[in-house]
Amino acid sequence: MKSIILLKQNHLISMLTVCFLLCLAVSPVTSQTLGGLDTEAAVSSEADNPEDDNENTVSDSKAEKIVPAEKPVNDGSWTGYVTSRSGVNARKSPWGTVTGRLEYNDEVMVSRSSGEWYEIVSDNGKCFVHSKYIARRMTQQEETVDKVKAFVAATSNFGGRPVKGGRISSPFGYRIHPIQKIKKLHKGIDFAVAGGTPILAMGPGKVIHAGWVNGYGYTVKVLHDNGLVTLYGHLKKGSLKVKVGQKVQSQQSMGAVNNSGASAGNHLHFEVHKNGKPINPASIQGVTL
Ligand SMILES: [Zn+2]
Repeated sequence: MKSIILLKQNHLISMLTVCFLLCLAVSPVTSQTLGGLDTEAAVSSEADNPEDDNENTVSDSKAEKIVPAEKPVNDGSWTGYVTSRSGVNARKSPWGTVTGRLEYNDEVMVSRSSGEWYEIVSDNGKCFVHSKYIARRMTQQEETVDKVKAFVAATSNFGGRPVKGGRISSPFGYRIHPIQKIKKLHKGIDFAVAGGTPILAMGPGKVIHAGWVNGYGYTVKVLHDNGLVTLYGHLKKGSLKVKVGQKVQSQQSMGAVNNSGASAGNHLHFEVHKNGKPINPASIQGVTL
């Protein structure tokens, strides 16, 4: 006999949201971090509910194998845990008699809030705990959505161009070095632009170097939220506007072009590193050269 599985509308919406976010962030990184997502499939067997819309009906002989998700809690209660390392008092009422103690990381079921206090249900019955010491435990699905959102934010804000205007005077790859006259890997892309042109952060991240590097001259390096490192070389002495540890935003001006270090003329030498190795900046989605 075929069984009929109905997707409840709110579950369908949350599943669609996750699917949408997944589609936005198609990447090996996400596929690693999202292992086990499909186990969260929110499917309920409520074929006898006449109010459900027939359009949402899935009739499938394989459906019997789908494990129904945990029944959603509709009474407003939620699961949290104790955040205080030293534990927290459980009281009979807000600021009332201490009836027991909860330890760090103990799981609690919060049934309602009363001002700054939570009424919680434990094995020993009901008690009150100050809300300051209780945090909500995210479900696996919520954690997944959070990770995807963070990844999408980090990657979608990365890209553009490290300088405005000018032209590419030397691409990434092997070439005869202009000064050393030997065949060498050019680890980045050169942008020939006027001296003093601002150099712009390629995405949000944190400055990990701001100062002199032999050969590169005055240099800024940024570790981005998406894991890539960008390097901006041959900058103008005294033009660096950022310090190590400082956070930068996408397209933030960090210094100015010059020809400090081993450079034959005003240009920006721009590198992108992935897992510690230089990669061709032109190969990165969102980078417009
Ligand atoms: Zn270069």
